[in-house]
Amino acid sequence: MRALAALALLALAAASPAEAQFRLDINRLIDTAKNVGRATAEIDEKQEIEIGHDMAARLLGAAPLVPSEAMQRYVNQVGRWLASQTERPDLPWSFGVLDAPQLNAFAVPGGYIFITRGLFERMRSESELGGVLAHEIGHVLRKHHLKAIQKNAQASLAGDALSLALSDRGSAARDKLVAFGTEMYARGLDKSDEIEADRLGIVIAARAGYDAYGLPAVLQALQAMNPEDSGLALMFKTHPTPAERLGEIESRMQPTLEAYGGQPQLAERFRAH
Ligand SMILES: [Zn+2]
Repeated sequence: MRALAALALLALAAASPAEAQFRLDINRLIDTAKNVGRATAEIDEKQEIEIGHDMAARLLGAAPLVPSEAMQRYVNQVGRWLASQTERPDLPWSFGVLDAPQLNAFAVPGGYIFITRGLFERMRSESELGGVLAHEIGHVLRKHHLKAIQKNAQASLAGDALSLALSDRGSAARDKLVAFGTEMYARGLDKSDEIEADRLGIVIAARAGYDAYGLPAVLQALQAMNPEDSGLALMFKTHPTPAERLGEIESRMQPTLEAYGGQPQLAERFRAH
């Protein structure tokens, strides 16, 4: 409930209705002028945060947060520390553990990141948690989901509808955009995006002071599980196999792993939560 309240507060802080209306009209004018002929609207950071906010609210409707304030605060502390080491430290980064038994984690545009209780309970140290959160942070830094949404929107919404979807939060076109965005979590990203997020995740976790083997350790644990385990179905459907990801990490990240593999794992601090 607290994260939902925080999300609602973010929405309230965005603008008063009058300001919102004014800005919306201005956007419409600009968009109309821009969109004569073709639809190539770029999603700016404010729109990215708004779209992500609406997607996060929808996802939280499907699976609520674990009702443990201590756990949610801890995951936010770890996640925000990691995010503060990146080139987008000023996004409204927000982290949550969803009350779901499956093993999964995902990033929403604008800096909303969720992991499931099932995955959290499989972890053994803060460096593992950090590795997984840093992978998701990598997706937000490179705007992987946002670009996929934009690509699909450009294909399915005509020029005016697309600019309306981006500028008007109340429009049917925006609803369509957000619905598509959330459906994407059942389909997954391109394999190259996942491999890039693994590499970024290892670098970010190392930069934040964690044992760089945190993410590989989680992938090894997943690899050791029975692939028929129903809790793994969605993750395995939407990601390359753990073996493939570990192979890519091994072939490209060995120097980083060796240089930062001795940093703290913080297993006890993790267990305390
Ligand atoms: Zn990913």
